Amino acid sequence: MTHRTGEPKERPEPPSRRRARAVPAPREVKVYIAGTTHTPLSKIVTAAAGILVEAEDSGTTGKRLPIAYEQSQYVAEFFAGLEAIRSAGKEDTLTIFSAQRYVHDAMNKKLSGWEHEGWVGVRHCGVLLCLAAELKARKAPTFFKVAAPGTPARTICKRAAGLAKRAAKAPIDAEWDLTLPPNTTLRGLSLQGNRQKTFYRSIREEKTKNVSPRASTRKKLEAVRMAVIDAFGRHVSDADIWRAASVKDFLPRTAQFLWKGLHNAHRNGTYWTHIPECEDRAMCKECEVLEDLEHILVDCKSPGREIVWKAAKALWLEKETQWPEVSLGTILGCGLAEFRDDGGKVKRGTQRLYRILMSESAYLIWRVSKSPPMETT
Ligand SMILES: [Zn+2]
Repeated sequence: MTHRTGEPKERPEPPSRRRARAVPAPREVKVYIAGTTHTPLSKIVTAAAGILVEAEDSGTTGKRLPIAYEQSQYVAEFFAGLEAIRSAGKEDTLTIFSAQRYVHDAMNKKLSGWEHEGWVGVRHCGVLLCLAAELKARKAPTFFKVAAPGTPARTICKRAAGLAKRAAKAPIDAEWDLTLPPNTTLRGLSLQGNRQKTFYRSIREEKTKNVSPRASTRKKLEAVRMAVIDAFGRHVSDADIWRAASVKDFLPRTAQFLWKGLHNAHRNGTYWTHIPECEDRAMCKECEVLEDLEHILVDCKSPGREIVWKAAKALWLEKETQWPEVSLGTILGCGLAEFRDDGGKVKRGTQRLYRILMSESAYLIWRVSKSPPMETT
């Protein structure tokens, strides 16, 4: 195994005691977990985990997720699983019931593959790594069971979901200990049986993990995050934003355009103010203001810009009833748009149409804007 450092840190080993304390007799513990989300009127989604330990009032908990994590039911279930494992003694036989299969599948089917590949590219690696380490630190068996509809276990899981729902409404997120129990993880990826792609990805992750984004990139990410919350009610992480800039619905040139937009790497506005004799290129000839990407795509008075957005809106309204507001955030974050039908199911076709319409319209405006011929991509 090659050594690779990771995000969660190992807890120091507790000092050994000279005289062993009396160990309580092992028990069989059943814990019911649930993860849920809450979307208030302000549309900022929050997620929380709920756990209920059978026959123990003190084991009843609801906790909001750390804001740095994706606020989804999927991630909340992992946090609930972590809390469930920590709620039982290491010698107790533990059975965890959930209405969802997430934790069950992650720990039973995917864990060995993730460990073999050194957790490279695994989303929510922090909480999953913790969950796996806590599982290994246990000395007694742990079972994950899916609570089938109509069973008493499902009813108790619903009560756990109620706890989570209440916790999700809390004004601030809860404190979570994401340190690992000692001697439970061997960090790194196996040199045997891994693909070259995994090694490259691992090296890239390692090299870039301490690189903080530039201030202008951070501003763009924040603008996208707020726009996505506003328009689609989704709380997204930086990783989600980067991933969404290269979804398969975009052509390579539009994906590159969005990626450069997030990095503030297009040659306009302040880019030219630093170059002698090119200062005048920083200004929009039409509006006589500093010409940044937001101005070109959203605010400029040039007729071309308006025509493109009007056409995009008209095309959209042939299929849908509401055209989300066009802002730099919704343009750069169009890959994160989410549209659901009355039953709550994601409308894939509509999502794809929106992604293509937004990215292609913005790219077209960019191309016909006054910035070329200096900018060609
Ligand atoms: Zn202008």
